[in-house]
Amino acid sequence: MIIGIDLGTTNSAVGIWRDGKAELIPNAQGDLLTPSAVSLTEDGTVLVGIAARDRMATHSGRTVTAFKRRMGTQQTVKLGKTEFTAEDLSSLVLRSLKADAEAYLGETVTGAVVTVPAYFNDKQRKATRRAGELAGLKIERLLNEPTAAALAYGIQDREEKEPFLVFDLGGGTFDVSIVEVFDGIVEVRASAGDNRLGGEDFNACVAAIARPRMDPDGILYRLPAADQTALLSAAAERTRRALSEADRAECIVVAEGHRLGTEVTAAEFETAAEPLISRLREPVLRSLRDSGIRVETLSEIVLVGGATRMPIVRRAITRMFGRFPNTAVHPDHAIALGAAVQAGLLARDSALDEVRLTDVCPFTLGVDHTEIDARGNYHQGLFSPIIERNTPIPASRMKQYRTISDNQREVHFNIYQGEAREVSGNVKLGSLRIPVPPRRAGEVVVDCRFSYDTSGLLEVDVAVPLTGESHNLLIADEADAMTPAELEKRRETLAALKIHPREDQENAALLARATRCYESFLGDARHAIGQWITAFEAVLDGQNLRAIAQAREELTRQLDALEGERFL
Ligand code: ADP
Ligand code: MG
Repeated sequence: MIIGIDLGTTNSAVGIWRDGKAELIPNAQGDLLTPSAVSLTEDGTVLVGIAARDRMATHSGRTVTAFKRRMGTQQTVKLGKTEFTAEDLSSLVLRSLKADAEAYLGETVTGAVVTVPAYFNDKQRKATRRAGELAGLKIERLLNEPTAAALAYGIQDREEKEPFLVFDLGGGTFDVSIVEVFDGIVEVRASAGDNRLGGEDFNACVAAIARPRMDPDGILYRLPAADQTALLSAAAERTRRALSEADRAECIVVAEGHRLGTEVTAAEFETAAEPLISRLREPVLRSLRDSGIRVETLSEIVLVGGATRMPIVRRAITRMFGRFPNTAVHPDHAIALGAAVQAGLLARDSALDEVRLTDVCPFTLGVDHTEIDARGNYHQGLFSPIIERNTPIPASRMKQYRTISDNQREVHFNIYQGEAREVSGNVKLGSLRIPVPPRRAGEVVVDCRFSYDTSGLLEVDVAVPLTGESHNLLIADEADAMTPAELEKRRETLAALKIHPREDQENAALLARATRCYESFLGDARHAIGQWITAFEAVLDGQNLRAIAQAREELTRQLDALEGERFL
């Protein structure tokens, strides 16, 4: 069985194609979204999802969120005493989603379609694929997130659709795609985006406004830096969500027994967020330009991603396109549903017989080269594009290069992704050296072929026709290329981590929430929460499932009354 997974910065979701349609699968708590949060408890068990997210405020040194932003790097975070890369943490989320799907379907899950931001580079894609392998999941396909959303929207009611634009603003990334549907073919015409723009950045705006006002005495500075950030960004997140509904909202942090609070107005927030809003424009313009589609011919602007719920974002979109956006697809579900459609396509489900998908590569790929100008001066470090952005994939392109000095012994290619003329402005993906026979400058030709597959993974082949020699490089940074043996060892280490039992996750999540509330409230409320926790723990000890379910309901009701229903 193949499932579809939206592995988000903030939230993840898992879906399946079944009985002719895509559906989402609930997790152990019955939620369709699982926060992409991981926490390691004191006794060394791993919690994933809402329980982990609630522990962020109370156990920031053992909890991590938003690690997708570090995907493709070897940076580690320490949870307790154990170090994890973003890849490791993602594998724990994937493992948990796989377990949810297996429990729901009563079948083993072997493979998955996993979505990635269109703007994810080769390293980030490879890291995502390794995260799947670490979780014991074969990644059948990496699918660009806006493409997934387009697929979910595009096959709705199976009609031809004029070009439409998918606008996806999530927790950490922004992606735009222009898509057309005809004859069952969902065709992505262009993709663009910003890998470093999302809800988290808007939280930072709120925090920057609130912090000096709420904490004139610098109480927060007494906390470890990680706790300051965790508390502030959680508070800012709540404030910002409230500002989606109201003109003003409180931003409150409880630190060392002090309640620090201030009111933030929507107007203040919107002024502070202006620079972020202006960054939404460029990717939109670029996708229009690259697809050659005029803004007037777009039939719809389809919104996905939780951050498109912000009124300031909706207004910006309405201004940019001169019309109201379409909210026909569920902003939080569309991507996982699209991944599920792709899983159905890969399984060749007959209900999808006439549906095809063609996607594009969202960025240009090439090598560095040296140009010699009319005066014979050398200009090094210039970018030579081989596959240009928005080429339909899979794609394979070849370009020839010549030696530049007499008796040159080797040719060295550095491989880059990006649009800048100077390679220093682009992302380096890897490098490759190939020996050449010594000849006069320019006499040796080297063929460089780039092949880009449907998952957005790149392969480079370099050949010297003169010698018949060729080299192949599956792009990987020297530093993070794990050997199969190392990968296996890492997989074993991760598999050996105790995962909190699935059947107890609901209780663990509720306790984490109650503990967070205990720390953030004061006085009578805090006292009451303490007593509720004691009572709940006593019922848990009794191991009577019915009594536990009842107590859970009661505690949930009590906490809801105190802080409002929890949000995902
Ligand atoms: P990702 O794909 O990165 O996991 P999502 O699409 O789940 O992200 O969106 C998460 C973002 O959406 C978060 O930054 C969150 O603050 C934001 N968000 C969700 N609901 C709201 C809301 N009602 N108002 C403002 N922002 C929201
Ligand atoms: Mg997303």
